[in-house]
Amino acid sequence: MALNTMTDAGGLRTILQEVLNDLKDKHLYRELRVLQNHQAAVCTINGREVINLSSNNYLGLCTDPRLEAAAKAAIDEWGVGSGAVRTIIGTLSIHQLLEQELAAFKHTEAALTFGSGFTANQGAIGSIVTDQDVVITDELNHASIIDGIRLTKAARKIYKHSDMDALEAALKETQNGYRLRLIITDGVFSMDGDIAKLPEIVELAERYGAAVYIDDAHASGVLGEHGAGSTSHFKLYGRIAVQIGTLSKAIGAVGGYVACMQELRDMMIQRARPFLFSTSQPPSVVATCREALRIMQSEPELHQRLWDNTRYFKERLNALGFNTGKSETPITPVIVGTSETAGKFSDRLFEEGVFAQAIVYPTVAADKARVRTIVTAAHTRANLDTALGTFEQVGRELGII
Ligand SMILES: *Cc1c(COP(=O)(O)O)cnc(C)c1O
Repeated sequence: MALNTMTDAGGLRTILQEVLNDLKDKHLYRELRVLQNHQAAVCTINGREVINLSSNNYLGLCTDPRLEAAAKAAIDEWGVGSGAVRTIIGTLSIHQLLEQELAAFKHTEAALTFGSGFTANQGAIGSIVTDQDVVITDELNHASIIDGIRLTKAARKIYKHSDMDALEAALKETQNGYRLRLIITDGVFSMDGDIAKLPEIVELAERYGAAVYIDDAHASGVLGEHGAGSTSHFKLYGRIAVQIGTLSKAIGAVGGYVACMQELRDMMIQRARPFLFSTSQPPSVVATCREALRIMQSEPELHQRLWDNTRYFKERLNALGFNTGKSETPITPVIVGTSETAGKFSDRLFEEGVFAQAIVYPTVAADKARVRTIVTAAHTRANLDTALGTFEQVGRELGII
């Protein structure tokens, strides 16, 4: 069939072209890099074999044969689609089992799954706050939190990143007039790899009578017992009202969940719009997640390898003279200065066989542009040594070290 090419469509094409050209002029235009084989420690991108330092596949589970087998078995048993939203006829018994297992993993009363971590934030925040409430939020929180808040009528206070004085000031300013005060923070911040100051946040929340909501997308599988997240890492069980997790990063599949008190699960089933109006996860994905959870809890060596690799890579980057900022997790930025230097650094690393994404303004401050690295349990020491050698060579070439 012939391609049905649109004309200007009432001006739409011209409008899009103008905006896109403007992005290109400002060097803010993104092109997709195409992965041509498995999401693995060494993979092929745009025809070039590279060591992959940009994936969130922390435990290497994306390509674990046991998860693949679980997905295939679920297709044999249940078919490929779930056929409806959860509230109509799209709740399978395996959805319920996964939720019970997630609640046990997170030490909470209940859990509810969503199609993604992004929609989990939307669904949870929208089920909690109304125009009678205020949300107090870290300035570096993830886009899905920002959008989740924007979709509500709650008042909002944004505090300076991890600044406990600023958080306390926001709590003091909001003492009167609100039904609920909800503090929201990422557990691990995705650009700098730093961990939220949860013990202080929880203490302040308790002193001022607020609730705490954390998004552990980058902490699940990474921090805490068996990778149970930041609440486990800081032993704050029972003191954090809402824990968001993703099934798309360390768990190796796709999806999100909210681990919380029973009443919030009940409320989200009534109110959370992505839960009510978007089809539930397909059986193969649910089975993949269940198998990932089982493996995480029975094979601590995966978690151990992730952290051994993290410490090794970070220590050696620092020894070479790179600035890795305040990272405390497998997310390790290599801060180089201008956006132009970061772009060139990433491009040259790629040409030499290492893929590490450049992160530039406005995602980070204009003078703090960087390439961001994430090591996983799947990297071998040889992979890391090769990557470090390339970082050293290109770093010297560009005068970064
Ligand atoms: C990745 C991420 C999400 C989104 O999770 P998906 O499952 O990919 O939709 C939400 N919050 C944070 C902090 C994240 O890093």
